[in-house]
Amino acid sequence: MARIHDIAVLKGDGIGPEVTEATLKVLEAVQASVGGFKLNYQFGEAGYHCIAEHGTNLPAETVAMLKRTKACLKGPMTTPEEPGAPVSVAVTLRRMFNLYANVRPCRSFPSVDALKPNIDFVVIRENTEGLYSGVEFELSPGVGVALRIITREASLRIAEFAFKLAASRRKALTYVHKGNILRITDSIFKDAVKDVARKYPDVAIEELHIDAATMQLIKRPESFDVIVTTNLFGDILSDEAAQVTGSLGLAAGANIGDSYGMFEPVHGSAPKYSGMNRVNPIATILAASMMMDYLGEKEAAAGIEKAVLEVLRGGKVRTADLGGTHKTSQMSDAITERIKSL
Ligand code: NAD
Repeated sequence: MARIHDIAVLKGDGIGPEVTEATLKVLEAVQASVGGFKLNYQFGEAGYHCIAEHGTNLPAETVAMLKRTKACLKGPMTTPEEPGAPVSVAVTLRRMFNLYANVRPCRSFPSVDALKPNIDFVVIRENTEGLYSGVEFELSPGVGVALRIITREASLRIAEFAFKLAASRRKALTYVHKGNILRITDSIFKDAVKDVARKYPDVAIEELHIDAATMQLIKRPESFDVIVTTNLFGDILSDEAAQVTGSLGLAAGANIGDSYGMFEPVHGSAPKYSGMNRVNPIATILAASMMMDYLGEKEAAAGIEKAVLEVLRGGKVRTADLGGTHKTSQMSDAITERIKSL
């Protein structure tokens, strides 16, 4: 009997619907060619476009739908910036489902210009606290305070996640902090990492301050395997990481908790390209591959990834960000065709 996976799909804003639809075609193809499982999609409304009608970017019926699923494929969404507007859907979902680990793989792709040809590392960012705790106030006119909350519990949890991943890869972990300045909060983070390290004697550890890490990521990106850090540092490092390997159109990310996973492209809604069938769908397609891996469908995950790499290696189909003229749909068609012949 086929394994059934209930998946939420939020298409998002701007280029979101086109990259998500391109990805659904790829998922259909891999479902047919690998077999043994069925994806049961639940489509929901969320994003900037919902605000006018619902007064929120995450309507209650979408939340109820999400709670009936195991994982979510999320298209990019436009973040409202007006004072008093709802916070970003990604931030709300991370809090709601306690998606404490933000996972951003970063590697060189065949036939795509990158800083170095042999980059392959993953940034693990703590997703629930730090400077994103949302505790911010104006002490007196013109004097603002934001609280950087770091707990031992969350630090142990993210360290455990990162060490487990490193142990399954090249067994090297770099932990990044600013303990020379943030002595109390980053001591808690550092101590937690060192305590978890004792359980993983085979994983080599390296310690870097955030300022040095941003520089080393440019200088020797090929030397990293798993990088683990707190929320704001991780946000900055993971965007930098996406860029060292080429296009933002190729970078995927996951937000993982103990009982839910949300998968999305790293890029935003790129409104200026909305509806033009012009952008690269690969970031969302690779996010879907991470989702299949999370759901335990390893063969489907590997199949999607292999098809993407082969299409890139072939070099015949290239969207504008890769220096070509092919459309979003032509890229997803090429990947779909490749999957059918795997
Ligand atoms: P963006 O990532 O949407 O676009 C920046 C530029 O990157 C684009 O102009 C384009 O040149 C390139 N790009 C992005 N996606 C691409 C793709 N798939 N293929 C090829 N090129 C691509 O960043 P922005 O313009 O700063 O943000 C637009 C909106 O998206 C904002 O409201 C922002 O807050 C939001 N955003 C959302 C998410 C999310 O939903 N996870 C992430 C980042 C930004």
